[in-house]
Amino acid sequence: MGEEKKCPAFGRCGGCQYLSKTYTEQLKIKEEYVRKLCGGFVKFQPIMGMDNPYHYRNKVHAAFGEDRKHGIISGQYEEKTHRIVPIDSCLLENQKADEIILTIRGLLKSFKIRPYNEDTGYGLLRHVLIRTGHVSGQIMVVLVLASPIMPSKNNFVKALLKVHPEITTIVANANNRSDSMVLGDKEQILYGKGYIEDTLCGKTFRISPKSFYQVNPVQTEKLYNKAIEFANLSGKETVLDAYCGTGTIGMIASEKAGKVIGVELNPDAVRDARNNAKHNNVKNIEFYQKDAGQFMVGLAEQKIPIDVVLMDPPRAGSDEAFLSSLVKLKPQKVIYVSCNPETLARDLKYLTKKGYQVKKGVCVDMFPWTNHVESVVMMQFVGLSKPH
Ligand code: SAH
Repeated sequence: MGEEKKCPAFGRCGGCQYLSKTYTEQLKIKEEYVRKLCGGFVKFQPIMGMDNPYHYRNKVHAAFGEDRKHGIISGQYEEKTHRIVPIDSCLLENQKADEIILTIRGLLKSFKIRPYNEDTGYGLLRHVLIRTGHVSGQIMVVLVLASPIMPSKNNFVKALLKVHPEITTIVANANNRSDSMVLGDKEQILYGKGYIEDTLCGKTFRISPKSFYQVNPVQTEKLYNKAIEFANLSGKETVLDAYCGTGTIGMIASEKAGKVIGVELNPDAVRDARNNAKHNNVKNIEFYQKDAGQFMVGLAEQKIPIDVVLMDPPRAGSDEAFLSSLVKLKPQKVIYVSCNPETLARDLKYLTKKGYQVKKGVCVDMFPWTNHVESVVMMQFVGLSKPH
């Protein structure tokens, strides 16, 4: 039996597909799924699960609305709808973040702040987003509002800090969009620095309201350590960190590499990556804001030597431009971090036809109670066997 009895929202929220399974069962299902798709390339090491698979999410989001009696509710959207399933505490989410959301909900009435109503366009508060630093303990609260003007914001901030002095920064974000994006473009810092910091594998990273940052810090360290272990760097290599986000993997690899080149499409993430390099005093890394495929085509045309490629593409996997240029550049090693075993299998099929051999693979459970699974594999260039 799993934990479905512990969650009153089970079956409605849709967040935990595996809540009715035991943790051991979940790990087995994920491992077998990846083995089925990618096990033909290499024998995978045992899946790395969590010792305590609860409350791991460092990023917590709650939508605000009203019930039929105009009482204020907060929680998750029901799957595929914009109906809010009220949630006070979640087995996945950071507990302090859940407490802060409840406090905010309790404060709204006395400040006459109404939740935003998507149908009528009335009201102010749309969402609350909380990001926490696992090592630093820093906490960021983002109030997502339908308008850039928040009445009595200073008093609201004071009241919130009185209950939760542990909050280190509060940001107001104005979002007047009608799509499902949580954050809008306008930001105003109401308290603190407007970002938090956290430490991963000995390096410090800045996390802004919109930065991509892995949501499970405990498992992310295990994942990155595996990627670095698989790369087995000597200190001389030129390493490409493709789809690098805020530069986390590349920065951790930089200590053991000659030089690291990071490429990432999102300009905010690249700005954070450059800041992160400066703050950690990492001098042998540079970042490019580009489509990874186009960037790789450029490297291949200029014949820039790359020894190791660390790649961590989004769910869609990599693309033809990237992979076809990779096989031209022929790095000795490719470490592929993947959040989608299906596209991983597709891309491994391509690379193994072009002279690469998969040498090692392991799954890391970054998302307990859900059906998501992360994998990392190491490939080596062995050349194509000559036709007879
Ligand atoms: N390695 C990072 C981020 C992985 S998430 C980490 O572990 O934190 C995947 C990243 O790929 C995202 O930051 C996304 O913005 C980026 N991305 C998506 N499509 C891309 C493309 N075509 N070219 C370069 N980067 C891309």
